[in-house]
Formats: sequence, C-alpha cells, structure tokens
Amino acid sequence: MKRKIAIIGSGFSSLSAASYLAKQNFEVHVFEKNSTLGGRARQLKKDGFTFDMGPSWYWMPDVFESFYNDFGTTTSDLYELERLDPGYQVVFGEKESISIGDSLEKIYEVFEQEETGSQKKLERFMASAKENYDIAIKDLVYRPGISPLELVTPVTIKKINYFLSTIKKDVYKEFKSPKLRQILQFPVLFLGAKPSNTPSFYNFMNWADFGLGTWHPKNGMYRIVEGMVQIAESLGVVFHTNASVEKIQVNSSGKAEGIVVNGDLIDADIVLSGADYHHTETLLDQSYRAYSESYWDKKVFAPSSLLFYVGVNKKVRDVHHHNLFFDVDFDTHAQAIYDTPKWPEKPLFYANFPSVTDPSMAPEGKEACFLLIPIAPGIEDTSALRSHYYDLVMSRLEKLTGQNLKKHVEFVESFCVNDFVKEYNSYKGNAYGLANTLLQTAFLRPKLKSKKVNDLYFTGQLTVPGPGVPPALISGKLVADLISKKLNLSD
Ligand SMILES: Cc1cc2nc3c(=O)[nH]c(=O)nc-3n(C[C@H](O)[C@H](O)[C@H](O)COP(=O)(O)OP(=O)(O)OC[C@H]3O[C@@H](n4cnc5c(N)ncnc54)[C@H](O)[C@@H]3O)c2cc1C
Repeated sequence: MKRKIAIIGSGFSSLSAASYLAKQNFEVHVFEKNSTLGGRARQLKKDGFTFDMGPSWYWMPDVFESFYNDFGTTTSDLYELERLDPGYQVVFGEKESISIGDSLEKIYEVFEQEETGSQKKLERFMASAKENYDIAIKDLVYRPGISPLELVTPVTIKKINYFLSTIKKDVYKEFKSPKLRQILQFPVLFLGAKPSNTPSFYNFMNWADFGLGTWHPKNGMYRIVEGMVQIAESLGVVFHTNASVEKIQVNSSGKAEGIVVNGDLIDADIVLSGADYHHTETLLDQSYRAYSESYWDKKVFAPSSLLFYVGVNKKVRDVHHHNLFFDVDFDTHAQAIYDTPKWPEKPLFYANFPSVTDPSMAPEGKEACFLLIPIAPGIEDTSALRSHYYDLVMSRLEKLTGQNLKKHVEFVESFCVNDFVKEYNSYKGNAYGLANTLLQTAFLRPKLKSKKVNDLYFTGQLTVPGPGVPPALISGKLVADLISKKLNLSD
C-alpha cells in the first residue's frame, strides 16, 4: 500500500515538495485553505487587467530550470520566458534615474558614467559575487540545515571573511556614489534584512541581479504556479482547495497521524506543512510546539507590505516593467521597518508595470500598475492609513514621471498586514518570511523536521533556505529528500 502524505498549503514550497514526493511513488494530498493554488503568488484579474498579487521579480532562472529538469521537462515547455531590458530602473528624482541593462557590459558602462573608476571596482565585486553564487547554489543552499558542519567545506573555509563583514560595509568601502551604493544594496532586500545586517557572502544576490538578469514569464508569474501544478498533477498529486487545516492530530506516542480539515480527520503517514511555520505550530497542542512565542517575537522578519493593484486607463510614460523609487532616504525607511516599527513618513516604493513589456497584462491602450511599500510586520493597518499612503505614493509617481495618473485610474484594490494574516495565516502579516541575517541562516533557522512530533515536517520561507520563490522550490526539494529517506528506511 502506498504511504500517504498530507501537505498543508499550496505555496511554491509545497508544490515543489508535492512533486518530488509523488515522484517517489507516495500518495500526496495538498490541502489549501484558499480557493486558488500557489500561496502568495496569487493572481487578480479584473476588467481585462491581470496582476500578480505577490512575487513579480523572476530571478535565478537556473533554479527554476533545474527544478523542471528534475521532472523531465524544461522552462520553455511550460511558459515563454523573456529577459527584460532594462531589467529595472531606479528613480532618484525628477528626470533622474539609472536603468540596469541586460548585460554586464551595459551595467559597467552605466556605473563608469556615474562614478569614474567604478567599472573596475564593479568587475572585481561581480567576480566575487559570481564565485559566491556558485558556492551557494552548488554547496550550500541545497543543505537541510541540520548541522553547522554542512557549511564547512574546503571551499567555504576560504570564505570565512565574507561572514565577518556586511554587504553595506563592502559597498561603502568601494563605491562613493550614493546612487550606486543604493543599487548595489537593493538585492539584499529580497533576503528580508537590512544590508548592514547581511553578511558579505550574500553578495551572490548581486550576481543573481546583474549577472543572471531579471526575467518575465509571458502572462505573468502565475504561469509558474500553473506549470508546477501541471507537473504535480501529472505525477498524481491530489489538490483540495477551500480546505483549511484546523488541527494536526498527534497520537499518544507523539507521532503525527493526520490532520483535521473542515471538521473531518484525514489520516496520513506523514504531515508536511508549507504554511507559515508559526501558524502551523498553533495547530498543535502547546506541548508539541518546538518554538515559543518569545522565540518568534525575537526573530527578524522580512517586511510586510502595503500593496495597490491599479487599473490605469492610459499608457504611462517613462516607466519600465520594474521601477524602484529610491528618491528618499533608504536608511530612515529601513529604521521604520526594523528598528522602531512604525509607518514610514517618506517611504521608498516599488512600481511594477508588467503591461509595458507584456500586452496580455492590460487591455489595449491601458496599463496595469502594482505598487508596493515595504512596512514593518505587525503594525496597525486601517483603511485611513491605506488611503493616505495611496495618495502619497500616487502623487510622488505623478511628480517623478511628470504626468497625471490619479484621474486616469479605473479602479484600485489594496492588500496589507490584515490581509496577509487573514488570507495566509502569516505571522504578524509578514510578506515573505523570516529574514536571512547571519544568525538566521542555514542551521540557525527553524528546522525542516519537527523537534517534538515524529513524522511532522515543515517547508517554506520561514525555514531553510529562506524567503523568495527560488528558495521555496529548493526548500520543497530538501524536505522531500528528508521524508523520502525516512520512509524508504522504514520499508
Ligand atoms: C508582495 C510580495 C512580493 C514578493 N516578491 C517576490 C519577488 O518578486 N520574487 C521572489 O522570488 N519572491 C517574492 N516574494 C516572496 C515569495 O512570494 C515567497 O517567499 C514564496 O511565495 C513563499 O512560498 P511558501 O511556499 O513558503 O509560502 P506561501 O506562499 O505563504 O504558501 C503557504 C500557503 O499555505 C496556506 N495556508 C496557511 N494556513 C493554512 C491552513 N491552516 N490550512 C491550509 N492552508 C493554509 C496559505 O493560504 C498559502 O497558500 C514576494 C512575496 C510577497 C508577498
């Protein structure tokens, strides 16, 4: 008889684990509380506009390709992927921006124009970033975070200095231009932490940015979800939507033996949760929880976000697919997220206009616009605050791009802390999990395997390797390997 695995949640990590486990010939069921699959990578379709509600940056195409290859398929079998040129622009003021092109040569040229001598420095910086990327992808991120020894290899030993300094220090030492400094620190934001709190080793994210580029799947990021669901279903995974898991059933000898969904007990040999780790532990009786409330409270979480999905009834000038509005002080905003949590007075923001490069995302002659302000998790979220920040950001967008936009808006939908909690059971409404700081890396993160309940496992952005879509795919593979080993040993 096939062994049965019940997976909680259908985010990328769960979808990844489900396919690896089904490939091992286990019976896999995925239970998702919402009506759609894909977790935070939700899609909003309205009046002919299409918005990716969560992730919008497709980085590290090699990680996606490697996942698809494990199932005998390839990216181009599932969706059309285009490298964006420019990858993105960073706006520093009215008519003041820097665009990041689709090759290192173009980027070197832009750096040299901004700061004489910076090309040579960037070449050196990128050489180390590439080396670290290769080490991270080949040697480190595919480790399950069980022991510190996983990190000790002949190659990583030589890199110890990269764990003693920070990205911010390295960037400030080499580059004088405030604009270049901001551009080089931007990729760290995907790790959920401040550049001053992120080890230099994570400069591999700069290789992901400049070296590997920013890509877009035609019709949007939701194509990844559709592709992964297609792979999972072809292997026999069964999806149950509108299936909120209310409890993890543990027997008297401390073994997970099933889940309660809409009042029904569903038996399973293994329970795996890709839902928010903190929330998952609340589905257990207190004595079976491995981490206390104060443990979670002390952790550095990735920011939450205030998001707007805006349908604009005209084409918008002077914007690209991805736009970072860094026209205000980066450090002051970061303090409002990490040090003294409060709404930022002058927020940085990100604006995504996917219809600039992909006409399928908006009706002809119109523009789909997605706005994101990173904010501290757990802060107050009211409709008055949302409308204040909508006005503020739209006015800045109008001023910085020199055009009227507000009066061309057909509709606006918003999403913030309260929605992250309600829709995804997210701890304090965090948008993308537990940050990757030095003390929250690898074996120092919450474990893939429960320390208190047998046959209960975890995956996703609060465990290893960390936040983001590519890490979620890797997290699913890591936990599937642990479960397969366990089940195959007990054969
Ligand atoms: C606004 C935003 C922008 C982002 N931008 C990017 C980006 O550009 N690029 C990038 O790589 N990453 C980005 N990320 C991060 C990335 O989306 C996440 O790290 C990744 O999708 C997390 O996947 P996951 O599998 O860990 O969890 P999730 O996507 O959170 O999936 C967990 C699932 O569990 C379900 N669930 C929760 N509780 C229960 C329950 N009791 N019963 C049943 N189901 C339950 C939830 O509904 C959810 O579907 C972004 C995230 C957000 C929110």
